[in-house]
Amino acid sequence: MNIKKIENMAKRRGKPFKILIVDDEPYIRDIFKEFCEITNSVEVDLAQNGFDAVNKISQNAYDLVTMDLIMPEMAGVEAVAKIKENFPHLPVIVITGNATERLITRAGVSGADSLLYKPVMLDDFVDEVANTLEKNLGRGF
Ligand SMILES: [Mg+2]
Repeated sequence: MNIKKIENMAKRRGKPFKILIVDDEPYIRDIFKEFCEITNSVEVDLAQNGFDAVNKISQNAYDLVTMDLIMPEMAGVEAVAKIKENFPHLPVIVITGNATERLITRAGVSGADSLLYKPVMLDDFVDEVANTLEKNLGRGF
């Protein structure tokens, strides 16, 4: 697992990574929060829909966003588009359980950086977060 990779990167830059988890289902938010909290090198914030996420992103500096696709208020595709419009270098991992291929393609077109399917295992979550953070390290956002 790539926890060490995340910890080394955080140590090198001198502060933990801040991740925003966006999902309309509370138990999914809790699971992903627990995944992140296996290390002190990650701090977590939660949002329950795209609207909430876009608001939080305009007020806080995040290093990465995990984005559900099917949500009320503002769904994932629209949220990804808005995020990428204003913060093009903020990486977004789409995590979906039941979105159609068409929706997933639209999320990719909107600029999502990678994709995971629910149910997500801890190892896959950590690996994807570690790799995405590594890819975006040093961009200076
Ligand atoms: Mg959902």
